[in-house]
Amino acid sequence: MRSGLRLIVLALAYVLSIAFMMAAYGTPAQPDTPQASVPVSASAPAAPEDSKFTQFIHDFREAALAAAITPETYDAAMGQISRNQRVSDLNLNQPEFANPVWTYLDTAASAQRVTDGRALLVGNAAILAPIEAKYGVPKEILVSIWGNESDYGRSMGRFNMFEALATLAYDGPRADYARPQLIAALKMMQQQKFAASAMTSSWAGAFGQTQFVPTTFLNEAVDGDGDGKIDMWFSVADALASTANVISNAGWKNGKPWGFEVALPKDFSYENADLDKTFAVATWKKRGVKTMTGDALGASDEPASIYLPAGARGPAFLVFPNFKTILKYNNAAAYALAVCLLADQLKGAPAVLASWPRDLQMLSRDERIAMQTSLAKLGFDIGKVDGLLGGKARAAMRAWQKAHNIPADGYPTEDLLTRVAMEAQAKTP
Ligand code: CA
Repeated sequence: MRSGLRLIVLALAYVLSIAFMMAAYGTPAQPDTPQASVPVSASAPAAPEDSKFTQFIHDFREAALAAAITPETYDAAMGQISRNQRVSDLNLNQPEFANPVWTYLDTAASAQRVTDGRALLVGNAAILAPIEAKYGVPKEILVSIWGNESDYGRSMGRFNMFEALATLAYDGPRADYARPQLIAALKMMQQQKFAASAMTSSWAGAFGQTQFVPTTFLNEAVDGDGDGKIDMWFSVADALASTANVISNAGWKNGKPWGFEVALPKDFSYENADLDKTFAVATWKKRGVKTMTGDALGASDEPASIYLPAGARGPAFLVFPNFKTILKYNNAAAYALAVCLLADQLKGAPAVLASWPRDLQMLSRDERIAMQTSLAKLGFDIGKVDGLLGGKARAAMRAWQKAHNIPADGYPTEDLLTRVAMEAQAKTP
């Protein structure tokens, strides 16, 4: 999805709605955890499925050849693969609970990740300086993305890319995403002369130090070390230059901040705190938004949104267009925040100052469905009842909160669910 890497990964409606929910108050999907990876060909598919999958690989050959993949490339990549049961399982998995954002950030910007990142900034200074100069993206942002995507190359994914993408392309909710990715992976192999067995990925087909997907590789990867090849696995220069190219293309403005933590006044109108709502800094200043040291906001011509990753009780951030360029890389606001916060800490800035509402329980899937059902009973347009609290549900929660004179942050808590459900029940004939 970066015209963007994971942006593309999440191209399906269903996945997009998860990303929406995560953008609001959850954590990004992390398809590439080391635990999720299994050795190549670890699956043992059932026989009838096996023959249907073989037929799919046979039929897909025609589409690949029509896209200028040679028969030799296709057969080398696709000749020996099987349907991977682990990939199928992960593809259909809908977690009962999302991780709270503070738990996600504990790992994403951990002390170890800060220490490692600082060492890598020093160790890779000669690589990073020309990339920063050419693309205008700070080295700390690049190293932070590297840390967030693969823990600096420690977990790049161990699936066979063709097996993973063919399994997703064969059936299930990511087929429309995976088919063009599979063609792009074949093109990448053909162009770069990789051995198919060397092309490892996450279960979702993201690969290398900074977890590109194949279409983004074809469109935006660059040869950072000038050896004539682009290798996202073994060349840190190639991976970081390619990442810088993506962020630069997404519109990163050199010398401008991503944003910073702010303090909100007691009477703050929370319904304006949404990444989709943008105002001049002067407007936020008039609304009483201050720096964490209690000072007035400085002058700025950057449009800004207030982002509340954990609702009204948690930390607040004033974010600028640069923050939103990170969403092109991975369309989850918590991911973008993790990248920006880790980058700040790599520069020596402090971590988040306000405390997280760690006592809040995340709603389960059943509870999220109950929230949607109750809001619908109360006459709100919440779209499809799918257990994903997307933009419409968020707007409905805000409207309900506003009508009841409580901070309209649109953040789903147990307490809010209880109150909304009781009112819906009272209205039920
Ligand atoms: Ca290279």
